[in-house]
Amino acid sequence: MNVNAPQLPSYISSENLGPWHIYLQQVEQVAPFLDKSLWPWIETLRRPKRSMIVDVPIRRDNGEVEHFEGYRVHHNTSRGPGKGGVRFHQDVTLSEVMALAGWMTIKNAVVNVPFGGAKGGIRVDPRQLSLSELEGLTRRYTSEISSMIGPDKDIPAPDMNTNAQTMAWMMDTYSMGEGRTVTGVVTGKPISLGGSLGRQDATGRGVFVTAREAARKLQIPLEGARVAVQGFGNVGEASARMFAQAGARIVAIQDVSGTIYNAAGLDVAALKAYQQANGTLLSAPCGEFIDNTAFWGVPCEFMVPAALESQINRFNAEQVLARIVVEGANGPTTPEADAILAERGITVVPDVLANAGGVTVSYFEWVQDFSSFFWSEEEINARLERIMAEAFNAIWQLAEQRGMSLRSAAFVIGCSRVLEARATRGLYP
Ligand code: GLU
Repeated sequence: MNVNAPQLPSYISSENLGPWHIYLQQVEQVAPFLDKSLWPWIETLRRPKRSMIVDVPIRRDNGEVEHFEGYRVHHNTSRGPGKGGVRFHQDVTLSEVMALAGWMTIKNAVVNVPFGGAKGGIRVDPRQLSLSELEGLTRRYTSEISSMIGPDKDIPAPDMNTNAQTMAWMMDTYSMGEGRTVTGVVTGKPISLGGSLGRQDATGRGVFVTAREAARKLQIPLEGARVAVQGFGNVGEASARMFAQAGARIVAIQDVSGTIYNAAGLDVAALKAYQQANGTLLSAPCGEFIDNTAFWGVPCEFMVPAALESQINRFNAEQVLARIVVEGANGPTTPEADAILAERGITVVPDVLANAGGVTVSYFEWVQDFSSFFWSEEEINARLERIMAEAFNAIWQLAEQRGMSLRSAAFVIGCSRVLEARATRGLYP
């Protein structure tokens, strides 16, 4: 059989392959390295288990009805219920949500939490909606996908432009339909509604822990290291803060408003306060504003893409001067850029490992909700550190043994776990 046969479902246009194609290429790259007994099952990874497209109408504050496109994809549930965030963004497509769901399948297997992979999204620019319009959008979307979600079916969480408040609305809407309060249907909730301590910073903490482990292996001291961060949302801000606490210098931050640079190091707390007060980083008084494209060539030891997909690509990969790229975002490096970075000796800590801290603490939240017994923040952070460091070391070791990239090693471990579960379960009926 041919293990290198990329397939596209008929509902993804071949003219606009999008991120799903990137995910497929990553699977194809490792297919030959998987145990032969798993080859008959590889096709499972090339097809999402089920995808739902929903119409989400809301009444705007001016009385008019507007329609938005929503998605929920279960990529794979071989190892447990679906798990993955919900993204609100104007560029969300089915291809993107499928890819993000696929990456969740691999990520959950890499850190060995008992979940499959899922993802959701609404094609909307949330900055154009008022708070009550956003609530209406979230509630109607939740109601439309309610047959797909549930605490032992598929558990959504925050992703880009969604947060603890979004999860509270989703939890409430689902609970109203069930006639009882079901806290375990979503994670990333407010602490007052069964959320977990440490969840807010968990993705950034995981990014920092894997960066620290990689730096140890490559003997790069964190003290005084220069860090460039793309994205100043939940992931970018927390990881920048933790790098700074470890003595590193955050020399550049890029977000939707522009790129701020300071060779001596930016004050992360001051920038966060400025962003909260002004809704933008533009004209923050602690650095100089440089061209967005110049961000990629900033001299640094660590580069943390923590925004959208395909940011490091064949057009800018040659410019990157970092020693280590730590993927806070999902899918920020295209396969072409991966090859260029590898050629230039730049280590990439892949998304399915680097940003898995968020879903790891989501798992802790889900467990705490089920048992109605809540852990201390120290306990949560210690368990998170241990899982991330162990996953990192297993991947590093395999990459060294097989002479492959960290991404390929992570995919070999993740795909093997998923396919072993799939093969053992067998086919129904
Ligand atoms: N949206 C996050 C991710 O991409 C977290 C998902 C979750 O906690 O379920 O990993």
